[in-house]
Amino acid sequence: MDAGLKRELEAKVYAGERLTREDGIALYASDDLSWLGRLAHHRRTELNGDRVMFNVNRHLNLTNVCSASCAYCSFQRKPGEKDAYTMRIDEAVRKAKEMEDEQLTELHIVNGLHPTLPWRYYPKVLRELKAALPNVKLKAFTATEVQWFEKISGLGADEILDELMDAGLESLTGGGAEIFDWEIRQHIVDHACHWEDWSRIHRLAHSKGMKTPSTMLYGHIEEPRHRVDHVLRLRELQDETGGFVVFIPLRYQHDFVDSADGKIRNRIQARTTMASPAESLKTFAVSRLLFDNVPHVKCFWVMHGLSVAQLSLNFGVDDLDGSVVEYKITHDADAYGTPSTMHRDDLLHLIWDAGFRPVERNTRYEVVREYDAAPSLAQRRAEPQQVWA
Ligand code: SF4
Repeated sequence: MDAGLKRELEAKVYAGERLTREDGIALYASDDLSWLGRLAHHRRTELNGDRVMFNVNRHLNLTNVCSASCAYCSFQRKPGEKDAYTMRIDEAVRKAKEMEDEQLTELHIVNGLHPTLPWRYYPKVLRELKAALPNVKLKAFTATEVQWFEKISGLGADEILDELMDAGLESLTGGGAEIFDWEIRQHIVDHACHWEDWSRIHRLAHSKGMKTPSTMLYGHIEEPRHRVDHVLRLRELQDETGGFVVFIPLRYQHDFVDSADGKIRNRIQARTTMASPAESLKTFAVSRLLFDNVPHVKCFWVMHGLSVAQLSLNFGVDDLDGSVVEYKITHDADAYGTPSTMHRDDLLHLIWDAGFRPVERNTRYEVVREYDAAPSLAQRRAEPQQVWA
């Protein structure tokens, strides 16, 4: 990058000025990863100091049967396929109870767009989960699912959200965003929820007092300009509602084929590679710099591995997704040895070892517990040492 432009961008960041679309594209074009990290770390430190937030959650997928066939998705199954499943309500509650331990604060629930399950199933399952786990917050359903509920119920999103909130819904999830630009979206998304509906549903949720996450699926067939466009749309909506609490860049994953029938469902993997760790760190950094009005940027470590998760804390990230027992949408198995489960102590040490201070949060990003500074090296050496992937 031209030295003059570099100085100009640096000055804007240090003065707290909003970056433009052209600035975002220029940042992606830079090869100077440590410089990008320094800028993003400056902004991250201004907003969040040396804190790294996490929560203790579990994922629950009620059904993998889906009417859509998104090109990147290795999770969906068609009715009657060998490993297609749909949980009865009592099964979902039993499974959630099995995952419960005294430290669990959140259940994260996303599902396929089931062709025949009735709308009534969804508020009922939330109600029963809430009754069985009263202290656990329910973060459930993507905007895509809410739009699907409109279709199968004939109700509007307004009534749907009211009913789901009455049944115990604390927050929507951030999925279904993928990449909003139609030039790319038309090749990877098969459901009917695009920017207009996705933003309408999150706007509505925010107007009801909900705080929601926002996401972006990157590292497939999109270019940096599509990532910039995606973030700027969300930034504009955030100017209007202030309801996004976090931005989560999700790294596109190949299908690692551990399904019972051995089929590869992902239809774009022959056309693309996965983003490299350096590209992921760049995406975290540029996102932190562009999305100046969202308080937190999260690294979902299951998709990145623990080494990149630790490094990301120096590239704008201040939030790590918590303990995950099951996560299936893009991570059926992984050839890189990333574990699928982490516990509170593992996370604390991961954060301390990277030089940050862990803070446990709830679904709304309110502080549940602040932890002390890291134990001394002498204390650490006296303990069995973790080997990170
Ligand atoms: S991403 Fe969601 S909507 Fe698309 S095929 Fe997969 S489960 Fe269905």
